[in-house]
Amino acid sequence: MADLTTGIRSIKGIGEQRAKALEKLGIHTLRDLISWFPRKYDDRTQVRRIADLVPGETACVSAMIASPPTLHRVRKGMELVKVRAVDATGVLDVTFFNQTWLKASLQVGESYIFCGKAEGNLLHRQMTSPIVEPEGVREVTGRIVPIYPLTAGVSQRMLSRSIRQGLDACAAILPDALPDEVRLAHNLCRIGYAYENIHFPESAEALDIARRRLAFEELFLFSIGLQRLKSRRELIRTTPCKAVDMAPFYDALPFTLTSAQRRCVEETLSDMRSGGAMNRLCQGDVGSGKTMVAAAAVYFAVKNGLQAALMAPTEILAQQHYNGLAPLMEELGVRCALLTGSTAAKEKKAVSARLSAGEIDFVIGTHALISGSVEYARLGLVVTDEQHRFGVAQRAALAEKGLHPHILVMSATPIPRTLALILYGDLDVSVIDQLPPGRRPIQTYTVPGSYHQRIYAFLRKQVSQGRQAYVVCPMVEGGDQLPDERKAVTEYAKMLQTEVFPDLRVAYVHGKMKPREKDAVMMAFAGHETDILVSTTVIEVGVDVPNAAVMVVENAERFGLSQLHQLRGRVGRGGHQSYCILISDNKNEETLERLKVMTKTSDGFKIAEEDLRLRGPGDFFGERQHGLPGLRVADIGCDTRLLQEARLSALELLAHDPTLEKHPATARRVEELFQQKADAMN
Ligand code: ADP
Ligand code: MG
Repeated sequence: MADLTTGIRSIKGIGEQRAKALEKLGIHTLRDLISWFPRKYDDRTQVRRIADLVPGETACVSAMIASPPTLHRVRKGMELVKVRAVDATGVLDVTFFNQTWLKASLQVGESYIFCGKAEGNLLHRQMTSPIVEPEGVREVTGRIVPIYPLTAGVSQRMLSRSIRQGLDACAAILPDALPDEVRLAHNLCRIGYAYENIHFPESAEALDIARRRLAFEELFLFSIGLQRLKSRRELIRTTPCKAVDMAPFYDALPFTLTSAQRRCVEETLSDMRSGGAMNRLCQGDVGSGKTMVAAAAVYFAVKNGLQAALMAPTEILAQQHYNGLAPLMEELGVRCALLTGSTAAKEKKAVSARLSAGEIDFVIGTHALISGSVEYARLGLVVTDEQHRFGVAQRAALAEKGLHPHILVMSATPIPRTLALILYGDLDVSVIDQLPPGRRPIQTYTVPGSYHQRIYAFLRKQVSQGRQAYVVCPMVEGGDQLPDERKAVTEYAKMLQTEVFPDLRVAYVHGKMKPREKDAVMMAFAGHETDILVSTTVIEVGVDVPNAAVMVVENAERFGLSQLHQLRGRVGRGGHQSYCILISDNKNEETLERLKVMTKTSDGFKIAEEDLRLRGPGDFFGERQHGLPGLRVADIGCDTRLLQEARLSALELLAHDPTLEKHPATARRVEELFQQKADAMN
């Protein structure tokens, strides 16, 4: 076996068909296979006696087959195998559905372990379709069993067997990206032990040890990668910007900047004057006025003869920024352009040509601005108005292109310090901790579902006063299936339109719509062509509709606090008193506590901290897709101490070996992780 990049097909025991199935999960190489970590574990170490089974509880029991299994045809396509098993304490009747082969394979007089939910009563114990395997095999019973994320055509057993084969194939060649001295200093186990026990834990303790080691490794490598990005950028020299009279810019604004905005502007400008490359994060709550900080930086850069780009996460946001900023900037002599995916090809070409000729000073668009074939005459400043998901990758992508502009990242989400440290470890941070004056706090209420009629009446009243409203619709529970977002939204919107508001204009938008359709709906809403917009959380990412004054969130318990806060930030952007109504029938105490936080504070940072404390970061991000390279085991909310440890250790290593020449295995792994991420962007 050569190395971990070997294709899975060449692993002993994995044939063509199985390889195909695994590839559907994105598992192509040996590394992919052994890094397919369990989603959770089932502790099946306890094997009980039949008499100790409690009806309703799931348990494992060891019992001997007492009489030959019998086959019953209930109806077409439904066959049962029934078998009686016994131990010294009692009798267990087991029924299997459509597993006919068991009739032949279960042997009278042999002992098996059955694992499933006990049914029946204390006199007559039963199980239906339990997991079964011969006593002594201990593959899926009698141990802590890994439960993997699956896809159609891939079963737990098949995956765990494949991973077993993968581990056996690479046991001898598993390179350890953690230097020995680091491993020993932090009491971490060896790589082989870690992989073995993350998949097939010998015990709960072994699993903990394995998990800790792998989490540390991820955080360590991630910290190294970030730190290297940072030091590489610190080496970049730029022509220091000269001072610029900012008065014309400030005079052109319809308002005075808050002192927090001023401070951020100052910090930004001083970065650009320093002769180094700016790497700054401007963090501010929704509505704190980040756009104007960006605009000030753009004005400053352009007056220094540089080109500036503003990148938004969606087309509609790009469009909105353009509509908002271009008139102001043009008036100040800044030549502006818009460039997005839906810009017509001819126009795109023209804009590109003018950019590379230096005839445009300020371009606004989506991330196509940096990853496409767009060329700049003298790109000096890139502002990203981003969701936390992008960040690192885009910065890496820029570096890949060999461009070294000043970078200003605007974060719409207040992120707790611990997370900021890792998400933005390579950036300096400015915080806008103040809202523009005259904002009326949004009135927030938590109500049960029985209030629906009252809420609808309230919406009607608001609409009659000329306001608009968002309704974030309830999600349909779908068991194992992912909730069907499209269905939920369209049906709820239809119900509202036909049964509740036949005379009002109801529209809907969901994530399954094409970007262009989505944008059209959002534009219509922004233009007050509709009154009520039913949606999923796609509206979370900020289109500015100052006339929207009500945000209703159904099933509010399903959302993280930070997400609710983002949603609430969609209203209260104009001069009108705004309202946020959180509907929930959930009686769970934790849920109530969580929702109460929303009614008590509008401070995004406080909410983010609470969110992290109450739910952990997986939920903090809505899903586990934080888009950070290589974090599969580490949980950046719960593992904060480990994160600090790993980060310090990474800094220490780099202090002694800045180029990692003495640690080639570490260097290679870091590069792989960050490279993959940059590739995924292009
Ligand atoms: P965010 O930080 O969420 O991006 P925006 O930049 O969109 O916030 O600003 C929110 C609203 O506040 C905008 O309508 C903007 O014009 C307005 N605004 C920004 N700064 C000020 C200020 N200093 N005084 C009054 N209004 C402001
Ligand atoms: Mg914004």
